[in-house]
Amino acid sequence: MKKDAKQTTEITGDGPKVGIVSLGCPKALVDTERILTQLRSEGYQLTPQYEDANVVIVNTCGFLDSAKEESLEAIGEAMDANGKVIVTGCMGAEPEQITKKFPKVLAVTGPQQYEAVVGAVHNVAPPAHDPFVDLVPDYGIKLTPRHYAYLKISEGCNNRCTFCIIPSLRGDLVSRPVIQVLAEAERLVNGGVKEILVISQDTSAYGVDTKYQPYPWRNRTVRTKFIDLCRELGEMDAWVRLHYVYPYPHVDEVVELMNEGKVLPYIDIPFQHASPAVLKNMRRPAHQEKTLDRVKAWRAACPDLTIRSTFIVGFPGETEEDFEMLLDWMEEAELDRVGCFKYEAVAGAKANDLPGAVPEEVKEERFHRFMSLQQEISRERLAKKVGRTLPVIIDNMGTEGYVGRTQGDAPEIDGVVYVTGEGLKQGDIANVKITSSDEYDLFGNTV
Ligand code: SF4
Repeated sequence: MKKDAKQTTEITGDGPKVGIVSLGCPKALVDTERILTQLRSEGYQLTPQYEDANVVIVNTCGFLDSAKEESLEAIGEAMDANGKVIVTGCMGAEPEQITKKFPKVLAVTGPQQYEAVVGAVHNVAPPAHDPFVDLVPDYGIKLTPRHYAYLKISEGCNNRCTFCIIPSLRGDLVSRPVIQVLAEAERLVNGGVKEILVISQDTSAYGVDTKYQPYPWRNRTVRTKFIDLCRELGEMDAWVRLHYVYPYPHVDEVVELMNEGKVLPYIDIPFQHASPAVLKNMRRPAHQEKTLDRVKAWRAACPDLTIRSTFIVGFPGETEEDFEMLLDWMEEAELDRVGCFKYEAVAGAKANDLPGAVPEEVKEERFHRFMSLQQEISRERLAKKVGRTLPVIIDNMGTEGYVGRTQGDAPEIDGVVYVTGEGLKQGDIANVKITSSDEYDLFGNTV
């Protein structure tokens, strides 16, 4: 390999072989060490020979023009000798410098993006998993039942809702590279997961922080973007449920995928209120969107869509008029599943400084009015499912039958279906004829 570059000595074992060329300063060297440490812990072998490697990583330096030249030379050498090349490091911050000259490199990531590099390696040469040796299963350690799993796609949030302190606790949005998320989803599905629950603080903003960085994935290019992620997850053999989506205009494209059956026709969208004045005081993302029109348009585009949301009543400054506006909105929107919270002053939240604190007894009274209206709506919406045969995923086996969920019910937060039938086990998806309903749950028999 390149003479003046740092490269690995040979470390052998059973896993796929990785070659690495590390250029640049000590910071870049530390990045390389971290990448190698992670890959070794996953059982990869290291090789100093291009020809032996399943994939070659080139960690570039972009400090001076001469360093850039040297990096491009190293990439060219690895491309000629091996052809499967992942580029990372300082030059990766401007990927077009590399892709223009070497359009066939497999992935380009910037400095310190260890996870993305490791994800790209997984993509080209998946780690060998030995269930007799590895203490951790291939899909990691999960605290959920075996048949469903949460898939976290980003951390932090770029919004500044006045009632929330998450951005000050977790910082701005940092999206995981899409190939890493997809590789994790694939491992989950291969490990027996039947339902993936996509979570983050602001799912529809996924990838904004990376400028929607593209990566190669299964012979195509996939952007670190909400729609691309949904499309690819939709190709996997699992239910895909989307949580914490905000009503940005591009969500319409995802609703189309729902109608095509690629992702579940379920959208968890925290509206929090309907009065423009309250939403403005909350500084909610997309607060200027005409949400009622959006809800109607989504339902027209995907008639089976279940919409889940949460609301806050008694937010500082909420007048009786604002609250009634919310109730009117609810009557028109007819959301399927709704949670409601009475506003609480969280230490450190900006909303605490807003004028017009709502007395506790008024919050309580609004909460009950809100919930009784929603119960009525929910009862009516569930009653429309009676007589239909729906796919139901089985969560538990009780003494009096099974407990499962339709595509319109997320675990833990929505209702359930009590199923009479035989021979089912946890994680099975059964066709269930719905025979009755109440305000939260459904009842039915297997067919
Ligand atoms: S409530 Fe607002 S600020 Fe808090 S995490 Fe959600 S979108 Fe971000």
